[in-house]
Amino acid sequence: MQYKHIFFDLDHTLWDANANSAEALKELFHKHKLQDKGISSFNEFVSKYNEINQEFWDNYAKGHISKQTLRYKRFLLTLQHFNIKNYDLSYSLSEDYIALAPTKSGLQPHTLEILRYLAAKYTLHIITNGFEDAQYSKLKSSGIDGYFRHIITAEKAGSKKPAEGIFEYSIKLAKTNVQESIMIGDNLEVDILGARSAGIDQVYYNINNLAHTEMISFEIRSLIELKEIL
Ligand SMILES: [Mg+2]
Repeated sequence: MQYKHIFFDLDHTLWDANANSAEALKELFHKHKLQDKGISSFNEFVSKYNEINQEFWDNYAKGHISKQTLRYKRFLLTLQHFNIKNYDLSYSLSEDYIALAPTKSGLQPHTLEILRYLAAKYTLHIITNGFEDAQYSKLKSSGIDGYFRHIITAEKAGSKKPAEGIFEYSIKLAKTNVQESIMIGDNLEVDILGARSAGIDQVYYNINNLAHTEMISFEIRSLIELKEIL
């Protein structure tokens, strides 16, 4: 293999966004006494939030909504689902979540082992649609900030995955080319098909074993399988 540069997605690929988000939401659920306000089950709250949050991120990647809409309206809609119409509460939850979630340190299984292994052989970078302010704290909190030469955020690149622009920007910044590069991510549409259309090989981290019919370079269920590919 001719690869020299590895570009990683961050959320759900290295940083365990599900676990970290649930931990932050649990603290906020108690702090804001959401049970007293009519949300009887924390698990229902989290699962509704996750569903709405994912929709918002998909729409954000497509350029349909702004950063502010994503950050604030996901809580407003989650509360509305439980018949709570309280703008101030929704605003406080949003602000608290933005400050708290990125301080969480959970990583996907085998992240540290695989980063140590890959860093000895390749130059590593991050390409993320996540926000500049949040992504740096996540990398620091989880102790993996030292592994990456460039942290490329959509905000810095002026283009979001899956658009080709952010991949072209990243290749240029890393002073490399598409042949020497490979993209690793958990989102088929955003990370994998995005990289493919930019001419970059891809590793789809399909942790949930989702069915698809796309032609992609490599597919793994666990990060540890990267040792067989790279
Ligand atoms: Mg991801």
